[in-house]
Parts: sequence; C-alpha cells; structure tokens
Amino acid sequence: MNKNSSNTMALAPNTSNKRETVCIFGTGDFGRALGHKMIQSGYSVVYGSRSTQISNLIPKDAEVLGHAEAAQRAAIIIIAIQRQHYNFLTPLAEVLRGKVLVDISNNLKLNQYPESNAEHLAQLLPGSKVVKAFNTVSAWALQSGTLDASRQVFVCGDDVEAKQMVMNIVRALGLTPLDKGSLLAAQEIENYPLQLFPMWKFPIFLSLGLTAFFFLYCVALDIIYTYIYENNDFSFFIAITIPNRVCPVVALILLALVYLPGIFAAIIQLYRGTKYRRFPDWLDKWMLCRKQLGLIALAFASLHVVFTLVTPMRAFARWRTGKGIISQVLNNKTEPLDHTNAWLSDSYLALGILGFFLFVLLGITSLPSVSNNVNWREFRFVQSKLGYLALILCTAHTLVYGGKWFLSPSAYKWYLPNIYILSLIVPCAVLVVKFVLIFPCVDKPLTQIRQGWERNPKYTKQSNYIINKSAV
Ligand code: NAP
Repeated sequence: MNKNSSNTMALAPNTSNKRETVCIFGTGDFGRALGHKMIQSGYSVVYGSRSTQISNLIPKDAEVLGHAEAAQRAAIIIIAIQRQHYNFLTPLAEVLRGKVLVDISNNLKLNQYPESNAEHLAQLLPGSKVVKAFNTVSAWALQSGTLDASRQVFVCGDDVEAKQMVMNIVRALGLTPLDKGSLLAAQEIENYPLQLFPMWKFPIFLSLGLTAFFFLYCVALDIIYTYIYENNDFSFFIAITIPNRVCPVVALILLALVYLPGIFAAIIQLYRGTKYRRFPDWLDKWMLCRKQLGLIALAFASLHVVFTLVTPMRAFARWRTGKGIISQVLNNKTEPLDHTNAWLSDSYLALGILGFFLFVLLGITSLPSVSNNVNWREFRFVQSKLGYLALILCTAHTLVYGGKWFLSPSAYKWYLPNIYILSLIVPCAVLVVKFVLIFPCVDKPLTQIRQGWERNPKYTKQSNYIINKSAV
C-alpha cells in the first residue's frame, strides 16, 4: 500500500464532513480528476491500479492499492478504464459481487458495439450492480471547476438502491443527477458525447442555403446585370457590398423563422380545439431548434453591423462622396439638405440600433448560465415579448431602408424583386398573423386551449396522445 504524499493538486478535504470511501479503478485522466473532486467533497478515495507506485499526479490523501485490495475497501467502485480492458475484471468477480460498479466509459463512434459498455460490464459481472453515470462530464471540466454548462449528470441502472447511492455522490459533488431509468438507457447516454451539434444541423444548413441563394441573387442583379446593361464592373461588390446585403436579409428571415413555428402551433391548436395532440414531427423539430436559429440570426446581424461600420473606409464610398462634392462645385450649385431623406436615414439607423440591442439581449438570455438565473415568466417575457419587439424593429428597419425601392421600376431588374422585398415576406407574414392572434376573440379560446380546455372533449377518450387523466 502506498500513501501518496507529494502532490501537485493541493486539496484540503473538510475532515469534519467526512463521507464514505469510494474506490476508483484506473489512475488515468478521468480517475484522477474525479478522485480530486471527490476528496474535495469529503470522500475518502482509494484507487485500484495495475501499479501501486507513488505518482505525484495522484490526488493528495488518496491511497493506491491493487484492484482486489482496493475493491474490498468500498461499496462503490468507479471504473475509470476503457471498455476494451474490461476483461481484466472477470477474475475479480467474487470481490466485486454485490458491489455498485459505476461505468463512466465512452466510445469513439456512435453505436460502436451492439450493446452499451455498461450492459457489457453487467454481462461480465452479473453479481455486481452496474450504474451508468459521469460519462458526459469531462475530466478537464471536473478538474478546472468549469462545470457551468455541464452540471447535469445522466444516471441509469437496474438497481434502484445502487442508482440512489450514485446520485447521492453526484449531488455531493455539486452536480445535478438526471435519472434516465434502467440500464437500457445506457446506449443513448453513451451516444450523447459523440453527437456533433445535433440541434444545430437544420439551422446551419438552412442559413447556409439562404446565404448561398441570396448571395447568387445579388451577384446576378448587382454585378452581372450592371455589367451587361450598364457596362459597369462592380465585381468588387462581392467583398463587402453583397455580404452586407445578404447578412441582414438572412438575419431577419431567421429571426422570423424563430417565431413562425409558434404561429403554426397556435393555428393548429385553434383548428384542433385541443392541446392534447402531438404536433407534426417537423413542427416539433423546428420548435426545438429555435434557440439555435436565433443565435445564428444574431451572428448574421452582428456581421451586418461590422460591415456597415467599415463602409465609410471603403474606396468606393469615398469616391462616391467626392464625386457628389465635385459635381456640386462644377455646377456651382449647393444641394439643400433633404429633410425627408435625413429623417428616413436617421429613423432607419435608430430602428436598426434598437433592433440589434434587443437581438443581443435575446441571445444573452438564451445562454444557459443566464437563463438558469431567471424564472420562466421572465424568460418568456424576454424571448417572446421582447423577441417580437426585436422582429418589429428589424422589419421596420428594413422597410424604411428599402421602402423607396419597392415602388421604383429600376428595382425590378430582369423583373426580379429587390432582395429587401424578398427578405420582408416571412417577417411581415409572421407579424400580421401574430397581430390577428392577439385579438381577444382569437386569443381567448387559444389561452383556454393552452390551459387544458377542449372543444371536443370526447377526443380525450379516443386519442393515443391524450394525457391519461386517471394517472394524473
Ligand atoms: P486514460 O487516461 O487512458 O486512463 C485509463 C486508465 O485505465 C489508465 O490510467 C490505467 O490505470 C487503466 N488501464 C489502462 N489499460 C489497462 C488495462 N489493460 N487493464 C487495466 N487497467 C488499464 O483514460 P481516461 O481519459 O481517464 O478515461 C477513462 C475512462 O473514462 C474511459 O472509459 C473514458 O471513455 C471515460 N471518460 C473519460 C473522460 C475524459 O474527459 N477523459 C470523460 C468522460 C468519460 P492504471 O495505470 O492505474 O491501471
């Protein structure tokens, strides 16, 4: 037995708050980080390792023993070892009988094995109680204390008592256990850390598709058309002018798409006269990625702000201003200030600034560290009420800026509408329908439906999707 004395991770366990002994198999990155956190939380930690040599990486106050000896010292054994080495546990079956084994392992690929690692462990050691936990927490986050975004620890297992013991440890470490049920859920839990931005795929593809479409649309109308019919080479528009047109258009459409599924949901509920029926799958999925759509919209809006701020520095902008001044000098005529234009330009900028401010506020409140600190009503107020206000301001910003073009025949090159006209279709449709939905004659039944009222109560007995009232 080696007691590790020299240690780089300074730990000072609270001896007055001493908890039980927990055994960790494996002194690798995760075993050490978890042991470090457990000692801080008052647990005694004993490592089971192939080597009982002293290492200055092992947390201070932890013991390092052989596997069998370490296992005998604790009722809970955390297996911080890769699945491919689990076979070494089979000879320890007798020592591990009746013990709680916590499987924390992850795989390299989705569905790498036919059964989950935790189920594999349970098959190898049928006399032990296997619980899956901790696999979604990283060793780095445990050690550095940056667990804000990943406080949740998914736990599953067939033995309720064993699961409770593990959940108590999770709580003692300052984390939040989430009971996912039996060991059958282990495969799903093991797949979580392997998923690559699952909720971001649709918003990213949609925004890329919209960007590509509007970019090509602008290239056709602003560069190719001008070259063919006006013999002007504006190909340099590709660098700033066109991105600065595409970004606000995509941002506005994406922001409107955040609120459009809510409109569809309201119409469906009003039509069905009940909330006790599932929405179509596409609507469910759309609703689940609204936050991602909003954050991507914010990114596009931020790019628009930056592109706009650099506009005065551009050679083209300086040339155009100079040309205006020279033409006034040559004609010996000073153009008077156009007050209507001044009003329009200031209003358009003011609406944009206010809209962007609310946009940023929406983005900030959607971050878990902020949304966890506001209650549901406050969250809804910001995301729904202020969100709609942001949509109104941004739509008005576009209308005031592009309004004059809508009526001008020169805006319809090749009979195609200007990009700003296209950008207003979805936001205006959302705002108009929302306006209708807040009329008392529509809002009242909708609120009642959302509170559980049904137009046709017999439906509750027939549908597969109803809430089982006897079970409530
Ligand atoms: P690691 O640094 O490679 O450590 C694995 C440990 O397993 C080794 O230090 C070794 O401990 C033991 N081991 C290696 N080969 C063995 C063998 N043939 N027989 C018996 N024991 C052996 O890996 P890790 O990053 O700590 O990961 C350990 C487990 O935690 C993995 O299943 C991983 O998926 C999971 N996990 C890791 C993280 C993370 O952030 N690192 C996050 C979540 C889950 P001894 O030398 O002491 O015997």
